[in-house]
Amino acid sequence: MFTNEHRYFIQYMLENSYISLEEASEVYKSIPGEKNHKSKSLEQLIHTINEKICKQELRIVTAKCDLTNEDNVILINTSSDNLTRRLRAFTPSELLYFQIIIKEIITTEGQKIPYHICLNLSKSDAISLKADDAENVLEKWLSMGYFIKIEKNIHLGSRSIVELIPFFHQYYKDYIKKCYLCSDLVFSGHICDICKEEFHKVCIRKFLVKHQNCPNCINRNESRYRCENESIDEDDSMSIPSTSRKKKRLD
Ligand SMILES: [Zn+2]
Ligand SMILES: [Zn+2]
Repeated sequence: MFTNEHRYFIQYMLENSYISLEEASEVYKSIPGEKNHKSKSLEQLIHTINEKICKQELRIVTAKCDLTNEDNVILINTSSDNLTRRLRAFTPSELLYFQIIIKEIITTEGQKIPYHICLNLSKSDAISLKADDAENVLEKWLSMGYFIKIEKNIHLGSRSIVELIPFFHQYYKDYIKKCYLCSDLVFSGHICDICKEEFHKVCIRKFLVKHQNCPNCINRNESRYRCENESIDEDDSMSIPSTSRKKKRLD
C-alpha cells in the first residue's frame, strides 16, 4: 500500500523523472506529515517505493554522472523489451532521431559528438523532423538526462547509461566497454594510453589516491601514466584524449 509519503515522492518523480540528489533531498524533507510516520532516510524511502513500483516496470535509481561527478535521482522504465516502449511519449520520427544520436555517439571516437552535428542528424530523410522540432526534442532529452552537453559536445547522459543497458548490449556489443575497476559500463571514460584499459573517471581517481600506477599495468611506464593522472586531478578535465577507440561504423 502506498502511504501519502510514497505518493508525494512518486508524483514528483513522475513529473520530473530526472533530478539532482540535492533536489530529491529537498523534496524528501518537504514531504508533509508527522515525522514518526515517515521513512528514516531518502534511501529508505526510495527502497520502499521501488518494492512497490517494480510490477509497473518502474524503478528509482541514484546514479553518478561520470562526466560531471553529480549524483542524480532518476525514475527509469525497466521493461526489458524494445526502446519504443521505454520512450513511449515520443513520436516515431523522434524515436528514430533518438536512436541515430545514440548510434552516432557510441560509434564515434571519444563517445561524444558536437551539438551542431547532433542537430544535423535530424535532417536524414527517414526522420522528417523540422529543425525547430529537432532542437526542442533534443533539449527535452537533455533535460531528461538522456544526453548531457559539455562545452559544445553531446555525450550519453547518466539516464541513458542506466536505463538503456539492455539496448546497448543488444545493438552495440562491439562498442561498449566495462570499467576495469567496477565492471559497470563506461562511456567517455579515462583510457590508459599504455594498456588501453578504460576506467570511469570517478573510479580511477579513487584508485589513484592510494596507488601510483594504472590498475592493469603496474610498473610499466609508470611515470608516463602518473603524469597523465596528474592532469586529471588538476583540472578535472573532460577532454582527456582517448587513444584506443578507433572510429567504426555499424553500416
Ligand atoms: Zn568504474
Ligand atoms: Zn594501463
